[in-house]
Formats: sequence, C-alpha cells, structure tokens
Amino acid sequence: MDKQTRVLVTGAGGFIGSHLVTYLKEKGFWVRGVDLKYPEFSETDADEFEILDLRRWDSCLQATRGVEEVYALAADMGGMGFISAHHAQILYNNSLINLHTLEAAKTNGIKRYLYTSSACIYPEHLQEDANVKPLREEDAYPAQPQDAYGWEKLVSEILCMHYRNDYGIETRTVRFHNIFGEKGTWEGGREKAPAAMCRKIAEAKLSGKNEIEIWGDGEQTRSFCYIDDCVEGIYRLMRSDFHEPLNLGQDRMVTINQLADIIADIAGITLNKKHIDGPQGVRGRNSDNTKLREVLGWEPRISLEDGLKDTYAWIEEQVRLNAENQIQKKTNFQAV
Ligand code: NAD
Repeated sequence: MDKQTRVLVTGAGGFIGSHLVTYLKEKGFWVRGVDLKYPEFSETDADEFEILDLRRWDSCLQATRGVEEVYALAADMGGMGFISAHHAQILYNNSLINLHTLEAAKTNGIKRYLYTSSACIYPEHLQEDANVKPLREEDAYPAQPQDAYGWEKLVSEILCMHYRNDYGIETRTVRFHNIFGEKGTWEGGREKAPAAMCRKIAEAKLSGKNEIEIWGDGEQTRSFCYIDDCVEGIYRLMRSDFHEPLNLGQDRMVTINQLADIIADIAGITLNKKHIDGPQGVRGRNSDNTKLREVLGWEPRISLEDGLKDTYAWIEEQVRLNAENQIQKKTNFQAV
C-alpha cells in the first residue's frame, strides 16, 4: 500500500471487531477502533482506540473524522436468550447507532462503508423446518424476521442502499451466519450457541459430571462459520464492487445435538444431554453460498471441527482460570 488508508472499525471492542482490527493492521491499514469498551480478552491492535457511545450524533462525528472507510460492527446484541428478551432496547439502541454512524460518515466524506447485517433478517416462515432450504439473499422479501433485532438490521440494510444511491457512498452489506471463535463472549447471557456449548462442556468436564443442558430437543439446525474466514470475507467484500446484501457463512448444516457431540469429542468426554425448555430461535437455518462464490470467487473454508478445536481450547482455559479465581477469592475471604 503506497499511502496508508485510514479506516474506522466500530464495535472494535467486541468479538468480530477486535479480530477485524488485527486483520486490517496485518493488511497495512491505519486503524481507529471505537466501542463502549476495550477488548476484554487481549490488547487492541488498533493505532488509536476511542471509547465512544455511538448512539450519540456527536460521538459518531468524532469517530468518523479523518478516515476514508468505515467497518460498522457496533451493535447491542447477544445470543438467542438475549435477543428474544430485549426487543425494545435492541431496536432503540441499534437504530440510533446505525442512523447516526451512516449520516456522520456522509458528513465526513467517507468513501466506503461496510454494514454488518445478519441471517436474522430472513423470514421466519422459511425457517420452520430443521431440514431447511438454504437461504438465498433474495429470500429476504416479503420480510418477516422473527425478532426486533432482525427488523432493525433490515432497515439499516435499506438505509445503506439509499445512502449509496442518493449520496454515492460505496456501501457494502454482509449478512453473517453464526460466527464463532476465540476471544468472544463466553458467559454472562450474551454468548452465542457455540461459545455457550463450549463453556457448558468445559464445566461438565472439569466438574466430572459430564452432563449439560440444551435448550429444546437439540434438533434445531444451524451452520457455523469460524472467525478467520469471517474477517477475510468482510475484507474481500469491502474491496469488491458488489453493493447488494451478501451472505457470509458456512453452508454445512448441523443440529445443536451434533454441535454438542463434536465439542464433547474434542473435549474427550462422553456427554449426557439433558433437554430443557428455553429460547431456540428459528427451527432451521442455513446459508446458500451461491452468490458468495460468484461475487467473491471465494467461500469460508475452515471446517467446523478445526474452528471448534481452537475455540474449545480457549474457552476451557477461561473456565479453568475462572474456577481458580473463585477458589482463590474463597481462600482469601476465609483467611481474613
Ligand atoms: P459483539 O457484541 O462482540 O460486538 C459488538 C460491539 O458493539 C460490542 O463490543 C459493544 O460494546 C459495541 N457497542 C454496543 N453498543 C455500542 C454503542 N452504543 N456505542 C459503541 N459501541 C457499542 O458482537 P459481534 O459478534 O462482534 O458482532 C459484530 C456485528 O456483527 C454486530 O453488528 C452483530 O449484530 C453482527 N452479527 C454478528 C453475528 C455473530 O454470529 N457474531 C451474527 C450476525 C450478525
């Protein structure tokens, strides 16, 4: 790169954002990260990191100053448990973040803008069967997302389309399908299925109980994409000339029970699965990658097993450290 392009990553303290910052630095960009918080699990690789609340217009103006490109990842989000219990909060916060970030990008003369949407925008009635037909980009309409999270993502996709048509900003829109990997939220209620499953299995292993709880009958299906493929896909889309929404995920569908079995195998334990009531989201979901292959000449290639090996190892370590800290706290308390 002759002159270092200056880019902004919003949500840079979060899971995908913190990995994307590292990837963009390796590619030679100057990177500003913005978030409500610093990355929890490692130092940021960003050249500059600002703590800002992007629901606020003045913060968005500050965040987008002096950069040429924006990767917009900031969002109030979590796994199914969180998304299905916080509709109003999610709709309010994410609408403000996306309206203000894009308008501020326009004000500051940003040339390229990548928006991170979700497979949650797809109509619920196309996802009622575990053996679901993979979702093509054009299946989004007529719209009927399951949650407010998906409705907001859909509106922000439309916003990007109009800012491109009306103001000439080169917008890109990516629809993620279940991204997983190390250094993501793994406890506390916002974690997503692969991280939650790794945590439960690590706890089951370390306690010797070898039993975990699974929400529903575990026959609901999903596809899962490893973080390294995700950041590469984001980058390839940003550099492409394709401006319509594009799926980014794996197209290998597994049941949640199968996901648990793969992780248990990695952990080296025989697992007893206890099925309980809980939020499950849609019954089945898979990505149709036809357009992804056509447009980028590429698709995610890291297998679920390979991605989970690294993810599980990292989460088991977190669970072990957490347990040691609890014991240490108890010992200190008893000594006082
Ligand atoms: P994440 O929760 O780890 O990261 C989002 C970050 O946004 C967090 O660090 C959070 O602090 C920050 N944020 C929230 N409100 C903010 C505010 N008001 N101002 C500034 N920062 C704020 O989530 P992630 O998994 O890294 O997701 C990144 C993007 O990808 C999000 O837009 C998400 O909706 C989308 N997405 C993710 C997945 C997935 O599987 N992880 C799937 C579909 C879509």
